Amino acid sequence: MLQMNNVSKVYQTEMVQTHALRDFNLQVNEGEFIAVTGPSGSGKTTFLNIAGMLEPFNEGEYLLDGVNVGSLNDNQRADLRNQKIGFIFQGFNLIPDLNLYENIEVPLRYRGIKANERKRRIEQCLEQVGLASRAKHLPQQLSGGQQQRVAIARALAGKPRFLLADEPTGNLDSLMARQVMELLEQINRDGATIVMVTHDSELARRAPRNIQVVDGQLADFTLYQGAQTIKT
Ligand code: ADP
Ligand code: ADP
Repeated sequence: MLQMNNVSKVYQTEMVQTHALRDFNLQVNEGEFIAVTGPSGSGKTTFLNIAGMLEPFNEGEYLLDGVNVGSLNDNQRADLRNQKIGFIFQGFNLIPDLNLYENIEVPLRYRGIKANERKRRIEQCLEQVGLASRAKHLPQQLSGGQQQRVAIARALAGKPRFLLADEPTGNLDSLMARQVMELLEQINRDGATIVMVTHDSELARRAPRNIQVVDGQLADFTLYQGAQTIKT
């Protein structure tokens, strides 16, 4: 379970102070598939990055499976992230001069996973995303949708319980976006909890739970009337 209690995040630049999140409260239960929407600049990426322990927050409490993330040191946080979290980004973030197999292998090496186990996991994940026959291809030899499926395979190889996706279909046409969504749905059925930021309202509606971030706060669809923010 992922739980944020009154989490606030302030970006301080020379002249401007931005409250990216303010008293943000959310509980994500085991096995959920949540789509996060909201206006540009409302704090969606900030929320996802904090959830993935990629950036710190200023106030409040973040519990991941009961572990108080704010109390961890850098190594403990990195370990927890490696154990539990997988990321998918809009831009795929594949390494251009490594083939698909090698791309998926990078984070597994980094985690100290042994060669035979790496091979087993990579083959299984490539199979799962339907690209087993392309292991030796370079990213540029694939379509955008296929590249995103490689990025998903790379995330899956770490056996994450939580898959965090930031606009995973943002660079894809609608057919490929649907295929990626179907893959995420399958991964969710297989047991991973998924939190997906998207501006694609059609995809968002397919997710079992929709939440909206407005001005750094959660606006539940049942509370959000589309006209104004709930509370500041
Ligand atoms: P969204 O993902 O909903 O578009 P973000 O979480 O990226 O929103 O940003 C929330 C707010 O925080 C925006 O006003 C944005 O400009 C600001 N922000 C995000 N990252 C930084 C940063 N590194 N430095 C300063 N301000 C930032
Ligand atoms: P860097 O990538 O240089 O570590 P960050 O902005 O990620 O910069 O982090 C700034 C500081 O906050 C670092 O000391 C980092 O270890 C710490 N930090 C990063 N993520 C978290 C987090 N989720 N909770 C608490 N502290 C964090």
